[in-house]
Amino acid sequence: MPLAVEEDQPSWCPRCEWNLDTLAPIERSTWFWRQIRTRDHRAGFRADKLLAAGAPVRTRVLVLLVAISVVLVAVPATALVAAVWLLFAGPVALGLPLLLVAYLVRPRLGRVKKILGGRYPLGADRAPALHALIDRVAVATGSPRPDIVAVDPHLWGAWTTVAGLRQRRILTLGIPLVASVESGELVALLGHELGHFKNRDSRRRMLTRPARVTFGHIAGGLRPSRVSGAERDLLGLYLIVYELWRLITGLLSWLSFAVHAAIHVAAARDDRRAEQQADLLAVKVAGREATLSLFDATAALPLFHGAISGVARKGFAMAEWRARVAQNRARNDLRVDVLRQLTIRTEASLFSSHPSTGRRHEFVSTLPDTPPAVTVGDAEWATIVRELAPYAETLRNELAEQYEM
Ligand SMILES: [Zn+2]
Repeated sequence: MPLAVEEDQPSWCPRCEWNLDTLAPIERSTWFWRQIRTRDHRAGFRADKLLAAGAPVRTRVLVLLVAISVVLVAVPATALVAAVWLLFAGPVALGLPLLLVAYLVRPRLGRVKKILGGRYPLGADRAPALHALIDRVAVATGSPRPDIVAVDPHLWGAWTTVAGLRQRRILTLGIPLVASVESGELVALLGHELGHFKNRDSRRRMLTRPARVTFGHIAGGLRPSRVSGAERDLLGLYLIVYELWRLITGLLSWLSFAVHAAIHVAAARDDRRAEQQADLLAVKVAGREATLSLFDATAALPLFHGAISGVARKGFAMAEWRARVAQNRARNDLRVDVLRQLTIRTEASLFSSHPSTGRRHEFVSTLPDTPPAVTVGDAEWATIVRELAPYAETLRNELAEQYEM
């Protein structure tokens, strides 16, 4: 079998994956960074491969992350109780700063309004066909339906989250992605995304969130000033104390960052497992073929960037983009195998929240081929595309403006 050759990439064997684990040379970076990136890549490659083979992933990590989070939430809770007590019983001067501490390190639930910034909520009144499809997918996967469906004109992807005191479920669909997929693939995408609601992945993220973010915040907060004492014209004892302070905060900042990185790697492993579980639900609702086809579209997305452009005629952006992407896909039918396999190299990282697209394809290929639980008729699909078309116009107008400048 001839080796696969892609521009700027070391060649590899498509059959036995020889050399696929070799990262393309990393330019313009320090020796230290290159070492870290190379090691991370190799370990990420191995982790993805194990996951695709169905190797069990330890759940003890999750227990540990929740435990760390509980401790981290206990800090503001204790500070709050102590502050309130001091405000009533005594020295108020101590109570106020404690109140500030409690406020600064309070657990955050995410604000719906902030999350929706720059995106467009799309109600059932404006997009009845899309909502009806989402409802059918929700029933088929046994997952709750989203409280808010939003579109993002710029996003080459889709995501879900749960936010706010009322824990509202939000599903966001990116217009470039929707313009790049066929109906069965959209069903697979919805199955995967709603699968995250069913599997309560957002809740798991929230429970582990303090552990995931706090040490990063601490590392950032302790980062010492870049300006040295000499540059500040400090002299004598002032200079010594200042430099000592810089050294200690610098060390603590590094230490916090190391803890942050370790926690992030552990959490990302759990995330990748959750993605695989969500893929199972995509297969359940859309069937194996449509799910595999969605991965192929995802792997080929970089090829479609040229198709989604401001050159489309005003009022016809969605239709023209879809036609151009379809042509592009037909033309690159053979190349997609190579592109998909290449993602196994380029997307491998211990820090990644998703297994590589190629490995997800590999895993789903091993599943039995079941018929789709939800199918979309031609007329229904045309309606859904029409409902989303205005947001494609938003993007088209922006791109056309850039194009003219
Ligand atoms: Zn996902």
